[in-house]
Amino acid sequence: MAPSADTANASNHIQTGSVATKRSRRIADEDTEMMTYGDTSEEEDYDSKRYIPAAKRRQMELQRIAGLGKSNGDGASASTQKRQTGEGSDPEDNEDVGVRQSKTALLHAARELREREAKEKKSEAEKQAEEERKILEAHAARRKLASDMELAKGISYTEPIKTSWTAPRFVRERTEEENARLREENHVDADGLHVPPLITNFRDMKIPAPLIAYLESKGIKKPTPIQMQGLPTAFAGRDMIGIAFTGSGKTLAFSLPIVMFSLEEQKKLPYIRGEGPLGMIVCPSRELARQTFDGLKAMAEVLAQSGYPEIGVLLCIGGISMAEQGHTLNKGFHIVVATPGRLQDMLEKKKFTLECCKYLCLDEADRMIDMGFEEDVRNIMSFFKQQRQTLLFSATMPKKIQDFAEQSLIQPVVVNVGRAGAANLDIIQEVEYVKQEAKMVYLLECLQKTAPPVVVFSDNKNEVDDIQEYLLLKGVEAVAIHGSKTQDEREYAIKSFKSGKKDVMVASGVASKGLDFNEIQHVINYTMPNLEDYVHQIGRTGRSGKTGIATTFVNMNTNEQTLLDLKYLLMEAKQRIPPFLAAIEDPRAMGAGGKLTGCAVCGGLGHSVKDCPKLEENQKRQTAGFSRGDGGGGY
Ligand code: AMP
Repeated sequence: MAPSADTANASNHIQTGSVATKRSRRIADEDTEMMTYGDTSEEEDYDSKRYIPAAKRRQMELQRIAGLGKSNGDGASASTQKRQTGEGSDPEDNEDVGVRQSKTALLHAARELREREAKEKKSEAEKQAEEERKILEAHAARRKLASDMELAKGISYTEPIKTSWTAPRFVRERTEEENARLREENHVDADGLHVPPLITNFRDMKIPAPLIAYLESKGIKKPTPIQMQGLPTAFAGRDMIGIAFTGSGKTLAFSLPIVMFSLEEQKKLPYIRGEGPLGMIVCPSRELARQTFDGLKAMAEVLAQSGYPEIGVLLCIGGISMAEQGHTLNKGFHIVVATPGRLQDMLEKKKFTLECCKYLCLDEADRMIDMGFEEDVRNIMSFFKQQRQTLLFSATMPKKIQDFAEQSLIQPVVVNVGRAGAANLDIIQEVEYVKQEAKMVYLLECLQKTAPPVVVFSDNKNEVDDIQEYLLLKGVEAVAIHGSKTQDEREYAIKSFKSGKKDVMVASGVASKGLDFNEIQHVINYTMPNLEDYVHQIGRTGRSGKTGIATTFVNMNTNEQTLLDLKYLLMEAKQRIPPFLAAIEDPRAMGAGGKLTGCAVCGGLGHSVKDCPKLEENQKRQTAGFSRGDGGGGY
């Protein structure tokens, strides 16, 4: 039996979902009202509106759902639609077809729904990935040693800075083979794109004669390896990573270029009030900054006395009053030597700007990172307004510094005068097993090994005080220096020790940070620090080609990892290995046969990064709320 037009109509109405269903019912009801006056089919229809058989209801429901699928973009063909409405077909067939079609439509709808959900999910995942990528990019950007302006404008430099300095012609005309031979002869390892040729004397570097005479008067007659390669590299405007042990002459390698650049600038157009600096040297400790400042000031004075343009040098460290240097600030200055804390403070207070600063040197960059100055350095970088030449000096080359350099230096030349982490070969290293309780008495005996001056290192402030007290009691002229001493106390200690009034300096790690105590005969490590500190500490002796002695006390309290590192270091430096060290076996070396590479963090050969005692130490410090001072150190 063919359904009436009204039923078909009603079915048609029903197809658009529940709202439509209500509407169709209403229409159907109206129809019903009309039908009470009418023909036979009206009766049927009337009844059918009151009672719809289950099969029919099922069909209608299926059709409704199928319609849903369609309204969801089912894409069913018009003929299918027609069939679903039952137009022009047998109702039984229609029912079957309807069910079948509805099923297909349902599957279709479900698949459609699943696809849409998957699409949404995918785009959700894509969104998340995008977000993560942005965070990473932002992080990398923040990590990048770049100024805010550069980051904001997306400026990144690809070419090194140009300078007017050129090497003499005969140097420029040297072949690569000749340069390689010279490097080998002088134990210089230089890496990078178009490495400038090394120069083996100061005169050929075009350094002003009065400066050469001054250096000679200080016993500096021939450049050290780091200077031979580092100076031409810096003079040429190239970024550089200098890996050099303390005492290698690195201070001069970054001081001379900024002096030369300042001379040139001052000659072109003298600096006036509020101008400068042209170059900046950032050091991890006040003592180191002061020392570098003194060296620069002396060179500036020599030049000024010889009729060269005046160079202004500013010291910007914690613990001193900046008013003292008011005249330098007022006159305009070319060079600032600073510790990160005070420098940031001055920049934030706009006491001076980095608008024309084109030269940056980070001295002892590894120490800087260790002492928690990483963020401060990044912040300082944000004050730059233009491209600068960056020089990074470090005795060791931990991974963090490598990353740091990779992100911030432009085509850097890596100059290495000794494997990063290796110690100066001019030091005789003696490692002695001394029981904890016997240390103090043995120290006294140890002091007899050489003439003064002697430095005794301990990593504990209280121990430093105890040792000094003990030595004073025994009649030894000793001074002490550590992070809790006031600036005056520190300066007094350094002055009296340097001038020879005092024979022994007892110091915590802070005093080892590049302090230039020339002539030190003997370094005693009262406790064995981590390998990196060990290299720095023993580096106080054996400077400028002189031989020095380093004695280190170890005992069962010493970290085994560190002992293994020490063993390798001694082997590398061709030193005597005491039997108790020789007996320590390295599980990694068993059957390896190959060459061991240093730990990426501290350069120690006796372990891999995951066992690095320095990392562990840093963690402990952080957990204990280790607080850094402005170069004062928390040691
Ligand atoms: P540094 O590695 O910069 O801490 O320098 C260590 C010491 O070596 C300083 O006292 C310098 O005076 C000295 N020095 C620097 N360059 C030379 C050189 N070319 N010849 C001899 N001594 C030098």
